[in-house]
Amino acid sequence: MKSWSIQARLTLWYGAALSISMVLLGAGISWVLETSLFRDIDQRLQDHIVETGRIVSKELAEHDRAEALQEIRESLSASPGERSAVCDEKGALLYKAPELDFTCPQSVFGYRNLQVRSEPFRALVTREGPYTIFAAASTRHIHSALSRLRWILLLSVPLILLIATGGGYWLSKRAMAPVEEITRTAHAIGMRNLSRRLPVPPTGDALQRLSETLNDMFARLESAFQKISQFTADAAHELRTPLALIRTTAEVALRSGQPDEYKDALPQIVEETARTAVLVEHLLFLARADAGGTLPVNSAFQLESVMLDVVESARKLAAARGIELSTPTHISQVELHGDAAAMRRLLLILLDNAIKYTPHGGSVTIAMNRSAIEITDSGIGISAEDLPHIFERFYRADKARSRDSGGAGLGLSLAKWIAEAHGASISVESRAGVGSKFVLHLPD
Ligand code: ADP
Repeated sequence: MKSWSIQARLTLWYGAALSISMVLLGAGISWVLETSLFRDIDQRLQDHIVETGRIVSKELAEHDRAEALQEIRESLSASPGERSAVCDEKGALLYKAPELDFTCPQSVFGYRNLQVRSEPFRALVTREGPYTIFAAASTRHIHSALSRLRWILLLSVPLILLIATGGGYWLSKRAMAPVEEITRTAHAIGMRNLSRRLPVPPTGDALQRLSETLNDMFARLESAFQKISQFTADAAHELRTPLALIRTTAEVALRSGQPDEYKDALPQIVEETARTAVLVEHLLFLARADAGGTLPVNSAFQLESVMLDVVESARKLAAARGIELSTPTHISQVELHGDAAAMRRLLLILLDNAIKYTPHGGSVTIAMNRSAIEITDSGIGISAEDLPHIFERFYRADKARSRDSGGAGLGLSLAKWIAEAHGASISVESRAGVGSKFVLHLPD
C-alpha cells in the first residue's frame, strides 16, 4: 500500500482542523447573531407593552370609555412595527390590531414565536398593571438576515478551506524541499565521494541542525574510511617486504643448487617467516579492535605470574643480544580483570622494544609495584620530534633501523589499545642517546 507523503498528511490534518474550526466559528457567529437580534426584539416588545399600558391607563382615566377606546385605537395602530392587543382586568378586549386573530387569554404567557398570515412574529403576553397586553413584532428581517449569513458562510467556508489547504500544501512542499535535497544528496554519497557534503539551509532550525549533524557524521565516516584505507595500504606494504625477502632468498638458494646455500637460506627464511607471523598477528589484533572487538574484562588473573612468564622470555632475548636484564627482587601481587594473553602481549612488546633498541652491552631494568610496571633501558632513546608519534600505527622513529630489527611500527599502538581496554595507560620518558622509560600505569 502506498503511504501518503508527509505533505499530504500535513495538509489533510490541517484541512480537517480548519474545517472543524470554520464550522464551529460559523455556527457560533450564527447563534450569537440570532440570540442578540431576538434579545433586541424582546426588549422592544417589553418597552412597547409598558408604553401601551401607560397609554391605556391615561386614556381611560381622561376620557369616557368609548372615547378612550377610540383614542387607544388611534395611538396603538399608529405604531409602525408592533401589533398589539389589550384586555382589561375583566377580560374584555379593549383593542386589537386588525390583522390579529385574538381573544383575551385566561393566563399570560412569556415570549413565543408565531405565524400571522404566514409571516413570522415574536410575541409577548404579559400583565401591565390591571391590563393583559399582547405585543407582537415581525421577525422576517431577522430570519432573512440569518439566512443571508448562513448562505455566505456556506459558500465562503469551502472557498476559504480550498484556498487555505491549497496554500498549506504548497507551503509544506516548500518547507520539505530542503529535506528532498538532503535525501537526494545523501543518496548520491558513496564510497567514492565521501568528501561530498549535504547542503546546509541557513534557516537556523531543525533542518539546518540535521544537515550539520549528518555532515559531521559524513566527516567522521570519511576520516574512519581514510584510516582503514591507510591501514590496508600500510599493511600490504609491510607484508610485501618480508615476502620479497623470503622469495629472493629462496630463489637465490635454488638457483645456486648448493646445499651450503640452502643451509644459509633456510634459517633466514625461518626468521623472516617468524617476523611476518608476528606482523600478521598484530594486524589481525588491530583489525579486530577496529571492528569493535573488545577484550574479555571479566576473568580475573594474577598480573605478577604473567609478568614472570614474560620476564622469562625476555631473559633469553636479552642474553642473545648481550644485554643485562635486571628483574625486580620483589614482585607485588596484583589481580587484574581482563585478558591475560593480551596483557602478556603488551608486556612482551614493551620488553621486546627495550631490548631491540638497546645496543649490545646495554641494560634493561624492570620494576613493578601495585600501581605500575616500569621498563627502563639504556638504549638509543627517542627524539623529542618522534616521541608524540610512537603510538601511531606503522610509525617508526628510524625507518631503516626498525625494519632491520624487525619492527613494523605496530607494537606500541597495539600495546596502547590493550592497556586502555584494561583501564590502564602507558606513558613514556625518553632522551635520544640516553635511553627510555616506559611505564604501564595499572588501574586502581
Ligand atoms: P616497532 O615494531 O617498530 O618497534 P613500535 O610501535 O613498538 O614499533 O614502536 C614504534 C617506534 O618507537 C619504534 O619504531 C621505535 O623507533 C620507537 N621505540 C619504541 N620503543 C623504543 C625504545 N624502548 N627505545 C627506543 N625507541 C623505541
